[in-house]
Amino acid sequence: MSESANDPGTDDQGREHSNRDDAGRERGHGADGGGRVYLVGAGPGNPGLLSARALKLIAAADVVLYDRLIPDAALAGARADAELLFVGKEGGGEFVPQEQTEQLLIDRARAGRAVVRLKGGDPFVFGRGGEEALTLRAAGIPFEVVPAVTAGVAAAAYAGIPVTHRGLASAVALVTGHEDPDKPETALDWEALAAFPGTLVFYMGVRRLPAIAQSLIAAGRAAREPVAIVERGTLPGQRTIAGTLGTIAEVAAQAGVRAPSIAIVGPVVSLASELSWLPEGNTPGGTMLGDRRQRVEHAPGAPLAGLSVAVTRARASASGLAIRLSELGARVIQAPVIRTVALPGPAPDLARYDLLCLTSPVGVRELFARLRSAGLDARALAGIRVAAIGPGTADALRAHGIVADVVPERAVAEGLVEALANVDPPVQQALLARAREGREVLPDALRARGAEVEVLALYETVAEPLSPRALAEAQQADYITFTSASTVRLFAQVSGDGAPSVDGSDTGDAALDLSPHTRIVSIGPITSAALRERGLEPDVQAAEHDIDGLVRAMLADRANRG
Ligand code: SAH
Repeated sequence: MSESANDPGTDDQGREHSNRDDAGRERGHGADGGGRVYLVGAGPGNPGLLSARALKLIAAADVVLYDRLIPDAALAGARADAELLFVGKEGGGEFVPQEQTEQLLIDRARAGRAVVRLKGGDPFVFGRGGEEALTLRAAGIPFEVVPAVTAGVAAAAYAGIPVTHRGLASAVALVTGHEDPDKPETALDWEALAAFPGTLVFYMGVRRLPAIAQSLIAAGRAAREPVAIVERGTLPGQRTIAGTLGTIAEVAAQAGVRAPSIAIVGPVVSLASELSWLPEGNTPGGTMLGDRRQRVEHAPGAPLAGLSVAVTRARASASGLAIRLSELGARVIQAPVIRTVALPGPAPDLARYDLLCLTSPVGVRELFARLRSAGLDARALAGIRVAAIGPGTADALRAHGIVADVVPERAVAEGLVEALANVDPPVQQALLARAREGREVLPDALRARGAEVEVLALYETVAEPLSPRALAEAQQADYITFTSASTVRLFAQVSGDGAPSVDGSDTGDAALDLSPHTRIVSIGPITSAALRERGLEPDVQAAEHDIDGLVRAMLADRANRG
């Protein structure tokens, strides 16, 4: 990684990945060449329970609109340049009104985008998916529905409760517990539910539990009927609380049951004592991070065990760092405040230059994307000296068959300036391919040595809105990592007023709101300066300004503090 003021696609051991080709294949789907909406269920929360179809569509999407109960790992599979929009409800309040969500679906699809509307569980089970589909149909937008494991069935299964069982229950009813039983206009027929010959599964607000139990008993269901509440079904920390209709309200209150949870009512609940299979606190397949194919095991006694570490850099660039931290035992909080967007433009005529400089893996990716669309390949770089700012950029080049001629020891622009000082013959015509925003250190130095320098802007960085949950977790983390000045600036914007400007422009004095116990980790002096501008002193600054250096500095800090 190179440390830079504004380069989010900074060098990261070549972890940068793109699913662009996949996206291309999936794209363009409406008969009129317009976009298409995929109403995709993400399953009950455990990323291992996402369907193959869901993963494929997420990887291909131009836009993903997601809710609160979506596993983070589901989003990690999205393209680096995909637009991710949080449209969920937070703490009961409506974050984005439903009409606005539906309008966003229509607008993005009409603009020709492949839009994934990602919902917890199954999209057509209490998820307003049916309403969204109706709106799309009315607007003439083509859509596909991707069903998924619904929380009521999955959480029960993870608690060892089959929702149907020969001789115990030959029917199951999925019931919303959000209706207020005291309201006269309630849609639920309690007599019918009490008489239902099978298992009742309530998707519920925890606060509704006493009223649900009371209403069922009042309508004739036996007070001794077994009830189980499954909290955080299929997620780490899943809990089952058992009782009867008569006792469950009190038992749940004592246990401090919290959302999300479901309640299962019926004789099948008693099977849990025989069938419960989940090792304590361990949900299989639940620890995937970053690269969704990567399973990360937490070594016991790992150096960062028990610590939470927030990662603020772009999702795609973050995966290498996130996996590393996770391997060291940390709980990684993905809080990307930035993403990269390719800028349109023709392929450069490289034959005109005697030096090509690349400053990030994203830059490499976008340069080759442009070459490809002009029908060119690595041969366009034949005979030109190539400089890479750091090892990750060099790796990205190697993946295209190019071995960089110059890779400085220090992965910063100043390092590259030094490394280029003695090249022979001296540089005459240089092309610097990079982000639109960047420091002028390298072009200025090359010009001072008499070279002509052109800067080719291949991509830009834009702010990525954070979900309130991700922001809150990042602000409370044990460590928070900043890998460029722009992550500092944009994190300050989201934590200051919750709303980054869409173009990522600086609002100037936004403060950085962090819990006092959170230790701040900076990748290098430029990032540290950006922190100090906001009144924050970094607790840790990496001596080597790359991901390895950052992790080493954190481990040293950890060791020093015992
Ligand atoms: N479409 C979703 C349900 C959305 S309603 C599905 O098919 O699962 C949201 C409710 O689902 C929550 O209030 C809670 O009752 C339930 N829920 C969602 N995820 C859950 C989980 N991991 N464990 C327990 N209940 C869950």
